[in-house]
Amino acid sequence: MNTCPEHIVHLMHEYLDEEISQEQEKELKTHLQQCEACKTHFHELKKTIALVQSTSHIQAPSDFTANVMNRLPKEKKKAGMNRWF
Ligand SMILES: [Zn+2]
Repeated sequence: MNTCPEHIVHLMHEYLDEEISQEQEKELKTHLQQCEACKTHFHELKKTIALVQSTSHIQAPSDFTANVMNRLPKEKKKAGMNRWF
């Protein structure tokens, strides 16, 4: 039996991006308590991100941020700027 709602995986990513609402976080946590498969998946995701974060400051290519910015769609970049300024 493996019928996890697709949006639960989506919620995991929102959570890790820290773009989750309290309501969604509650929904995600409730599901993780009941679902071993999603719990494992979420754990793996967190481990991967922790690994990336722990290695990024060691290598930190100077043009990394620029590359990421270049890959963002223009609209999104603008919207992001408006939010900050
Ligand atoms: Zn699940």
